[in-house]
Amino acid sequence: MQYEGVLTKMETEYGTPIQYYLVFESDFLNVNQLIGKDIAIDFVGYQCLNCGKKKKIFRQGFCYDCFYSSAAVGDWIMKPELSTAHLGIADRDLAYEEKVQLQPHIVYLALSSEVKVGVTRKTQVPTRWIDQGANQAIAIVEVPNRYLAGITEVALKNHYADKTNWRKMLTNDIEAIDLMAEKLKIQDLIPAEVQQYFHLEKNDLYQMEYPVLQFPAKVKSLSLDKTPSFQGKLIGVKGQYLLFEDRTVFNVRGSEGYVVRIEV
Ligand SMILES: [Zn+2]
Repeated sequence: MQYEGVLTKMETEYGTPIQYYLVFESDFLNVNQLIGKDIAIDFVGYQCLNCGKKKKIFRQGFCYDCFYSSAAVGDWIMKPELSTAHLGIADRDLAYEEKVQLQPHIVYLALSSEVKVGVTRKTQVPTRWIDQGANQAIAIVEVPNRYLAGITEVALKNHYADKTNWRKMLTNDIEAIDLMAEKLKIQDLIPAEVQQYFHLEKNDLYQMEYPVLQFPAKVKSLSLDKTPSFQGKLIGVKGQYLLFEDRTVFNVRGSEGYVVRIEV
């Protein structure tokens, strides 16, 4: 079977194990069913996820022009503390920013190698944690907008990492840490205006089980720009990465906007 289309991050379904789907315009593929099989990935071209033009992808699936103009990739995405929609102040497009920023957000601790702090919209739970390849995650506070989540994250960044170590995540090199106990320790670190949203009794600890036959001891990353044709035996999926038997790992999310042909 052959599939062709522009890559977007894999859709996921929380389950035991998590289910992964590659979604193309006219087709979708349950990636779990490909585990244990040889697959080939061929680079065909670029297609910006915003304007649809065949322009080289600059970042996050967007061409250079779209990356610096689209409201969907403003600085407040990566730095939630820069959010200003709650003040009625626009970054690029206030209507869009109000829609995204003025909704319930979660600040969480996730364990993908060491403990990491992060922010997500509530609607993205547990998708966000699956995308990061976290084995466990727990919400710290639920706040009504992105700004409050951002300042909480900033306060906690002094004590926790805020990025996933993807090599450790993919080799399943994970510290033994009790996230519930960790949550109990941090109430005093949370900014005053967020204290009212901290609830000790809400302790839904999420556990994520990924479809992986065997974790590699070391990994090497596949770049379609350098290696436009790749073939290998798929041994698992974790986060947004495909893991192959020869230790190659392919970051699907990192290749958004790349048009590929996949042969199964
Ligand atoms: Zn574009």
